[in-house]
Amino acid sequence: MSTDAKPIPLFNLKEQHDSLKDQINDAAAEALNSMHWLLGPQTEKFEEEFAKTIGVKHCITCSSGASAIQIALKAAGIGPGDEVITTPFTFIATTSSVSLTGAKFVFADIDPRTYNLDVTDVERKITKKTKAILPVHLYGYPANMDAIMHLANEHNLRVIEDCAQAHLATCDGVMVGGIGDAGCFSFYPSKNLGACGDAGCITTNSDEIADRCRSLRHSGRALGKAYEYDLEGSTLRMDEIQAAILRVKLPHLEEWTEKRRKAAAWYEEGLSGVPVILPPTPPAGSSQSYYVYTIRAERRDELQAYLKEHNIASAVYYPVPLYKQPAYAHLKLKAENYPQAEKAAKEVLSIPMFPEITQEQVMRVCDTIRAFYEKNA
Ligand SMILES: *Cc1c(COP(=O)(O)O)cnc(C)c1O
Repeated sequence: MSTDAKPIPLFNLKEQHDSLKDQINDAAAEALNSMHWLLGPQTEKFEEEFAKTIGVKHCITCSSGASAIQIALKAAGIGPGDEVITTPFTFIATTSSVSLTGAKFVFADIDPRTYNLDVTDVERKITKKTKAILPVHLYGYPANMDAIMHLANEHNLRVIEDCAQAHLATCDGVMVGGIGDAGCFSFYPSKNLGACGDAGCITTNSDEIADRCRSLRHSGRALGKAYEYDLEGSTLRMDEIQAAILRVKLPHLEEWTEKRRKAAAWYEEGLSGVPVILPPTPPAGSSQSYYVYTIRAERRDELQAYLKEHNIASAVYYPVPLYKQPAYAHLKLKAENYPQAEKAAKEVLSIPMFPEITQEQVMRVCDTIRAFYEKNA
């Protein structure tokens, strides 16, 4: 293994973009010159196509994954005085979106194997003020939706899924985003389905939630009325140009997801016998989307440095759980209440994963990790 080996990136947007460049340019130019720059025919068609892909009745596009969560919570009736239970081991958009509704987020710890909400701890955190559970399908691994829906039904809670990393992941045969009251997707460029800029959407089977989402993203406008406002919304629409681009990419999403799964199988083979913990295997009927491929490793920081020396990119999602973020210092949350999130933050490492990764690249990553532990045994 030479240190001047070609770099292996964590993800590779250029290759995918280049493969569709002409179609993307044409679609974008058409949307641009159509003069329908917002909520035009491309948006309408994309919403139909994405709803069909996920298997839900409605898709409502919006400006980002973060705004999708904010809109979905508000549409489900969550607001000031309410509590929303979620995970501290996620991207801050999950919780900042709760705060933007006026509600308060409450953390439950994570399951050490799946990194998703520990449902037993969720149950312990339920109070009279709890109105919703906000599970995140972290890294593309489906949260324990069966137990979450059961708990929600028992306590009359809403369930809003954060699907930002989990396009096409399934749980007991149902695609995520179609299990809870609503699902929230991000089309941030690096996500499994990425726009050329910021974009996102809400999926739901509820006509009522869908109507409220359409209004909330569009200044709270009463549907079909120009200057009548039912709700206090905001400017949270997705650009028509992004809809046109997403329509070029959506037909490839399934194939890209399969390629990610294939790369994961190569990792599983290549890392067999290496003392790291691989991503969990979902139960029969469920599947993951591998937004990232995250292992759990002893001496994680040393391993990461070693990979870097060998020109292999990696990243830690997330090194600082949300209860430790300066933005939440005023909440005075105690790390000892979230021992599993604490431990995971010190041990997880995401290694290269993208649909175009080759078997040769995966094997080089695996051999390098193996060499690290052999050298340091
Ligand atoms: C990306 C992401 C979001 C937010 O999506 P944006 O489009 O960047 O606003 C929310 N939650 C999780 C878990 C994410 O990974």
